Amino acid sequence: MTHSPILSAAGLTQSDLTGGTLAVRSPIDGAELARVAQTAAADMPAVIAHARAAFAEWRSVPAPRRGELVRLLGEELRASKAELGALVTLEVGKITSEGLGEVQEMIDICDFAVGLSRQLYGLTIASERPGHRMAETWHPMGPVGVISAFNFPVAVWSWNAALALVCGNPVIWKPSEKTPLTAMATMRIMERALARFGDAPEGLCQLVVGGPEVGAALVESRDVPILSATGSSRMGGIVGPKVSARWGRPILELGGNNAMIVAPSADLDMAVRAIVFGAVGTAGQRCTSLRRLIVHRSIREDLVARLTKAYASLPIGDPRAEGTLIGPLVDMASRDRMLAQLDRARAEGGVVHGGAAVTEGVPAGGAYVTPALVEMPAQTETVREETFAPILYVLSYDQFDEAIALQNEVPQGLSSCIFTLNLREAETFLSAAGSDCGIANVNIGPSGAEIGGAFGGEKETGGGRESGSDAWKGYMRRQTSTVNYSTRLPLAQGVRFDL
Ligand code: NAD
Repeated sequence: MTHSPILSAAGLTQSDLTGGTLAVRSPIDGAELARVAQTAAADMPAVIAHARAAFAEWRSVPAPRRGELVRLLGEELRASKAELGALVTLEVGKITSEGLGEVQEMIDICDFAVGLSRQLYGLTIASERPGHRMAETWHPMGPVGVISAFNFPVAVWSWNAALALVCGNPVIWKPSEKTPLTAMATMRIMERALARFGDAPEGLCQLVVGGPEVGAALVESRDVPILSATGSSRMGGIVGPKVSARWGRPILELGGNNAMIVAPSADLDMAVRAIVFGAVGTAGQRCTSLRRLIVHRSIREDLVARLTKAYASLPIGDPRAEGTLIGPLVDMASRDRMLAQLDRARAEGGVVHGGAAVTEGVPAGGAYVTPALVEMPAQTETVREETFAPILYVLSYDQFDEAIALQNEVPQGLSSCIFTLNLREAETFLSAAGSDCGIANVNIGPSGAEIGGAFGGEKETGGGRESGSDAWKGYMRRQTSTVNYSTRLPLAQGVRFDL
């Protein structure tokens, strides 16, 4: 097999790419890119022990010094942005600017974490007892297992790793079995940062390759106190309870079923642009992709006509080609699932525009589709499920309360948005009685979050938070301390216990 030059440009060698049992295919044309070695289940205890040994050293390195490692990682990512971005495109099928955008997101979270390394602030708390001081301090937790999904093959690791490292924790990463190459290339970049850093402990950042059975070792080990798992709600439903049952801390980032409410006052030109990017960007394979449109009945016909027109002109094809906006789905199974869901929607009374396999003018062997716009009579079972493909269901509402009820009446709770120029509607949407999602936006779409905010969602999305704001607290343990500097020993709440 001749290997793509993109693989060697990303630092992968012949021995990385051959001789293993895991076949890696490019979604662009289905061609086999490599056969990589998988981590044996029998090796997992040693991997975890290695991380624990690293933890014993890393937790005592001052946090700003730990931040220096992440600063170097950010520098190395900047230097390798083009190569890693191109590999994301090759291995996942994202269009070029999205492949590069994913690496930019890694750089952004590194910058955020470097600042954070000097801001892991605790609290001083007023004690009710004289001559006492109370404080709250944040300490490292131990090895963090990161299980990631195919669709953000490298950014999800960086959201977790940049924070975990400055918080004093080693990281063991199990990427999707569909995307080991981008993970291996990322580890090469990390190795360069570690070499420049100089004295980081061995085993601080490890990669294990394989499917659920390799992930299971991280899920089940009591020596991995934090397990961050990104993927389907089905996966989270298995992994989350197992981690909790062994008293570990799960951080779950699972499926979404994200909606946009379009009110009569909406700026429809802006809404159309946001809808199209949200629904068809990344070929509908973002956890935050727009999947449901809840439109006021008075503007539905106009909006659907504009969308049908916009959908008709979308360039579908090789994601590496200039101008392409929709690349392939990750594999043929994903395309089959999309087509089957459209059949179900039709059976439930849906009218489907688009949603067909594309074979002309695209690389042979890839799973290319025209995005689907589906006018539904109601929010049926099919609409309530996440299908990881570019399907946008259109629903109507008459009263605003009805729109909010529809938005919330699905099992997932990741991202949501409203297009309106009506202040009452916007503020109600953001209020306690509004959207029940972890992300709620006004006059922008549901996808494309910045790293500065905490990212995650409720209900079957899993409740985890990663990335910005105070998500770092999920990677540390909180310690409350009371120091008595008086000569007496008063008890709290006025309790007397005189000897
Ligand atoms: P998936 O659930 O098939 O796999 C995700 C990861 O979990 C893979 O690494 C897989 O090997 C591992 N895994 C699966 N079962 C496991 C088990 N029983 N034990 C241990 N590990 C296990 O998901 P996918 O198809 O790669 O990704 C798409 C899904 O991910 C969508 O549902 C999407 O919404 C979701 N996602 C969510 C977020 C978020 O932040 N909320 C981000 C990206 C993707």
